[in-house]
Amino acid sequence: MIKSVTVFCGASAGNEPQFVNAARDLGRQLAKANVHVVYGGGHVGLMGVLADAALQAGGYVVGVIPHELERRELAHPGAQEMHVVNTMHERKALMGERGDAFAILPGGFGTLEEYFEVLTWLQLGFHAKPCCLINTHGYFDHLLAFLDHSTNMGFVRKDHRALVQVAPTPEGALTLLLGTPQSASAL
Ligand code: AMP
Repeated sequence: MIKSVTVFCGASAGNEPQFVNAARDLGRQLAKANVHVVYGGGHVGLMGVLADAALQAGGYVVGVIPHELERRELAHPGAQEMHVVNTMHERKALMGERGDAFAILPGGFGTLEEYFEVLTWLQLGFHAKPCCLINTHGYFDHLLAFLDHSTNMGFVRKDHRALVQVAPTPEGALTLLLGTPQSASAL
């Protein structure tokens, strides 16, 4: 039973309105499903949109932010829990522990790094929590093509490539992660 979802997403909002809409949608839907939102704790970019939407919809939000970023990423004042940690590694460890599953919205280096860490650990069997990319506006298309390339070149096993779950929308991702009839597939 999934009670909390850790969301990785950009500290920026991106250039297309679809990105903000998807973050808002995901926050709302998690709140409606009574699923706690665990995230990077900031009030900037898609992170801020996600947390605001979840809180406005009556959701429960857990932020995890390194002390050094408290000001730069504007630690969200409304989150029910805000964990201020010392390092990025502690941040990822706590975000990993607190979520029963991972949803990944568009983002930059930080988002990708966080995703690949949990994906690698899934591949190694260090955890068994599902991870789903939310491919808003086709944002991850090139990444998925590259992962096919990695598989074709013999660096990623086919069964590991299948761990990369993708949904076109937050709704599709939640259907996939929360274990109800699937509206998305592993692409
Ligand atoms: P970005 O996707 O680059 O906009 O970053 C999204 C979030 O990931 C921000 O909250 C960053 O602070 C965070 N982040 C960036 N690099 C790391 C890292 N190495 N470990 C943990 N979080 C990170």
